[in-house]
Amino acid sequence: MTLSFGRPFLAIPGPSVMPDRVLRAMHRPGPNIYEGELVEMMPALIDDLRAIARTRHNVAIYIANGHGAWEAALSNVLAPGDKVLSLCTGRFGHGWTEMAEPLGVQVQIDDFGMRAPVDPDRVETALQADTYHRIRAVLLTHVDTSTSIKNDVAAVRAAMDAAGHPALLMVDCIASMGCDRFEMDAWGVDVAITASQKGLMVPPGMAFVFFSGRAAQVRKGMARVTRYWDWTDRASPDLFYQYFGGTAPTHHLYGLREALDMITEEGGIEAVWTRHSHLARAIWAAFDCWSTSGPLEMNVADPAHRSCAVTSLRIGAPHGTALRRWTEEKLGVTLGIGLGMQSEDDPNADGFFRLGHMGHLNAPMVMGALSSIQSGLIALHIPHGTGALEAAVQVISDT
Ligand SMILES: *Cc1c(COP(=O)(O)O)cnc(C)c1O
Repeated sequence: MTLSFGRPFLAIPGPSVMPDRVLRAMHRPGPNIYEGELVEMMPALIDDLRAIARTRHNVAIYIANGHGAWEAALSNVLAPGDKVLSLCTGRFGHGWTEMAEPLGVQVQIDDFGMRAPVDPDRVETALQADTYHRIRAVLLTHVDTSTSIKNDVAAVRAAMDAAGHPALLMVDCIASMGCDRFEMDAWGVDVAITASQKGLMVPPGMAFVFFSGRAAQVRKGMARVTRYWDWTDRASPDLFYQYFGGTAPTHHLYGLREALDMITEEGGIEAVWTRHSHLARAIWAAFDCWSTSGPLEMNVADPAHRSCAVTSLRIGAPHGTALRRWTEEKLGVTLGIGLGMQSEDDPNADGFFRLGHMGHLNAPMVMGALSSIQSGLIALHIPHGTGALEAAVQVISDT
């Protein structure tokens, strides 16, 4: 028997659930891309994007996924032979590094493993050792979506300042933006990147690169930047088509407009962060209870370093894959795979799963996901502690 008929629930950490309002806003005939509504709506859209990233500086938009944002950001400020310090706390830090290498960028990796955040003291030491300031940029993933580790961006900036090092601070906010608090200007971030399909609730296909005045100066000093990735015209276009280096992503723009309106209606980005953190605490309360007995365990022990957008779980092979299959087939709830967690003992990362809780998410959705996980634990005879759903409800009721 299956209980999955009804609305399917995609509980993976991106692409996230698309609001019906966003889908409806996209369901329309193609607009004129030379004049009229689409052209006129851009200035306000740019302002609203800046508000989400908490910056007064520039934003360039690309028709691309997050990988495009990675390459766009690197391409504007790094030339072949330049060096970067890449701080890795999971698969995505390495992914960004792998985008830098083919550009001829020399990469110094500092790997903090799969369970711990970046240690700012280690960053300070590494930068102090770089006497001749050969490192041009520090690459940091705010929330690594594979491990669900949230890094302290302001602390990394403080370490860079303490070392008196002039490198740019470049931050991957693809998982975190619109979910976990992120303050580009207040935290001294030079380049921040995100994409449309996670906290921003729009289908995959748009990428955003925010950059400071300092980063713009570095761009000006570059001998060459490839035309398509160059952020200069995109961020300050004379003509509408320059925003996108060609035809606009017309329907994505309507979807994004709607999503940004939804954020405003909720009370702005602060209210959105508060919702995410409250719901995340309910989720962690449930996992804390299940973890009291049996194999289930949150990947990140310290709540201060857990993301409010995604939670990575360890449950031992083959339970992770078995649980995902069960909740999807029987209940219509799709959980995320374990990413980057492969090992010799567990080559397919069957001992891991992830719960996405980013973007268009409310309390009944969280309770639905948690109840589905508990149903799976029971059905598959995976030992677990009791009281999880009650604990989550307690957190939710305390609004
Ligand atoms: C999703 C994600 C990416 C990659 O984005 P794609 O759109 O899949 O290319 C990169 N970094 C982080 C932190 C992500 O969560």
